[in-house]
Amino acid sequence: MLKYQVIPVTAYQQNCSLLWCDQTKQAALIDPGGDIDLLFEEIKKNQLELAQIWLTHGHLDHVGGTDEIARTKKVPIIGPHEDDFFWLDILQQQCEMFNFPKVNNFTPDQWLNEGDKLTLGKETFEILHTPGHTPGHIVIVHHASKTVWVGDVLFKQSIGRTDFPKGSHEALIASIKNKLFALPDDYQFVPGHGPGGSLKDEALHNPFLR
Ligand SMILES: [Zn+2]
Ligand SMILES: [Zn+2]
Repeated sequence: MLKYQVIPVTAYQQNCSLLWCDQTKQAALIDPGGDIDLLFEEIKKNQLELAQIWLTHGHLDHVGGTDEIARTKKVPIIGPHEDDFFWLDILQQQCEMFNFPKVNNFTPDQWLNEGDKLTLGKETFEILHTPGHTPGHIVIVHHASKTVWVGDVLFKQSIGRTDFPKGSHEALIASIKNKLFALPDDYQFVPGHGPGGSLKDEALHNPFLR
């Protein structure tokens, strides 16, 4: 069975998720934006072995801890889609802009594409490419638990910003309606900030999607 814990990190209270396969204790971090000591503590507390880092998109509050964790734990960096390379390529600049501790630019070990599968212990996940907030944004679907990690695509009663370079409001709305809302409507989502909820509630009540 898949277990997970949401751990808000950085001044932006970005929802890093620690996921693990109950049987094998293999773990992955989704969007480790920072506060590495806190993340390592939770890994240790649950007696897990960190195996992979998965990234939804290239924004600093989602990826800031990645390079250091990958080097310390010798684990691969997987995702986002290659169209977010330009964000990862200016991480140092983002640190100055957002007053973050300095981090190194890095290149993931593997880019992700629509339909790709990820494996963590006995659990499998499906990738959907969901551009709009950033062009290379991906979401991670775990069908067995009906859960989808959506990064900054969709929030409870809100949607992701699109006023960044290469952002697109039209693309974002299309990603939400054609990809997320195409999933069965009893799926839950875990967003990059704030509380999650059910996709069905957002389809019915999200004021940005009517
Ligand atoms: Zn973002
Ligand atoms: Zn964010």
